[in-house]
Amino acid sequence: VKTNASGYEVHLGEGILEDFSFRNKKKLEDYDQLIIVSDEIVWSLHEDYVRENFTAPFKICIVPTGESCKTFESYLNVHTFLLQEGATRNSAIFAFGGGAVGDLTGFVAATFMRGIAFYQIPTTILAHDSSVGGKTAINHPIGKNMIGAFYQPKEVIYDFHFLKTLPLREVKSGMAEVIKHSLISDNKWVEEFYQLTSLNNLDKQQLLHWLDKGIRVKAKIVEMDEKESSFRKYLNFGHTYGHAVEASIGYGKISHGEAVMIGMIPALMLSEKFGNLPNGFAKSFYSLAIRLGYDIKQVLACPFEKLADFMLKDKKTMKKQLHFALLDTIGVPFIKVVPMEDIKQCDEQLRKWIM
Ligand code: NAD
Ligand code: ZN
Repeated sequence: VKTNASGYEVHLGEGILEDFSFRNKKKLEDYDQLIIVSDEIVWSLHEDYVRENFTAPFKICIVPTGESCKTFESYLNVHTFLLQEGATRNSAIFAFGGGAVGDLTGFVAATFMRGIAFYQIPTTILAHDSSVGGKTAINHPIGKNMIGAFYQPKEVIYDFHFLKTLPLREVKSGMAEVIKHSLISDNKWVEEFYQLTSLNNLDKQQLLHWLDKGIRVKAKIVEMDEKESSFRKYLNFGHTYGHAVEASIGYGKISHGEAVMIGMIPALMLSEKFGNLPNGFAKSFYSLAIRLGYDIKQVLACPFEKLADFMLKDKKTMKKQLHFALLDTIGVPFIKVVPMEDIKQCDEQLRKWIM
């Protein structure tokens, strides 16, 4: 991934953590300390593997699991840990976990002594998205990801070994972002998902191939627009409505990806209206989502007025105008200011399909 400042490599594959340790032996020795930040679940499942394959000495800092680690309290606790352990500007910090741990750790890395070396060791499918691109953040009680920084990692080490323990809920969550990457980039690729009947027991080689593609799509867009002033907004496809559903149901109560899967349906309806997406595509995508096990009817728990409120509060909303990432055709995204009335119509249509 090339960035304004420099660039970094993303390594993918089964069993590559050991390779990372060997490849970077000298570099790792040059840091005065290595600190791994992980969550309770990930660490309990994979401590042995890390101790065996991450050959340099390190200290471990455990944070609460999932979204609950993206708080001020955890942020402060990790800083306290670093200070108590005598970390310096020449220390390196590793995020070992899903997107939540990655976002928290990245923000700590960006701010501890004004910035220290940061590495990502993602353990979820969703993190193929979150570990690349340098967005880091914690949540404010008023809004998600409201406090953060753009801070790129030195390297991303995506060892597929960790995905073996990923529960189906998290597979579904991550696959929604993979499907998003396909929709904004490649018509042929989207068709591959239409061949699937379930997300249970995905073929490993196929998954590797998809994650590789997803990372390339993300990397290419981030390279063009690191700070989200233009092209990077395409990555928000499905997220305006999706984030509203996620906020409305409650963070953690619905997974990020499931909310995005729901959000992509109205975004596709709007793409039929404002772009050249063939009529009926949104409906076929809705059926695909149901077939793959996404619980779309959860949206019924969110009154539209509440969703509208959340959409207006979104970081991407400017001067009360909703900027939607839409598709002209599959693989060709564009940004459009969409009146709330049109979103309401799509919302009503979606509710009718569910009923
Ligand atoms: P997560 O870190 O909350 O992980 C989800 C759950 O899976 C947690 O309970 C975790 O303990 C568990 N888990 C993780 N790896 C596991 C494994 N290998 N085996 C078993 N269980 C495992 O989050 P996520 O779903 O990966 O990411 C969601 C977060 O990512 C959100 O906070 C979202 O805002 C953020 N995000 C950030 C970006 C970005 O660009 N920075 C992009 C998308 C999402
Ligand atoms: Zn997302």
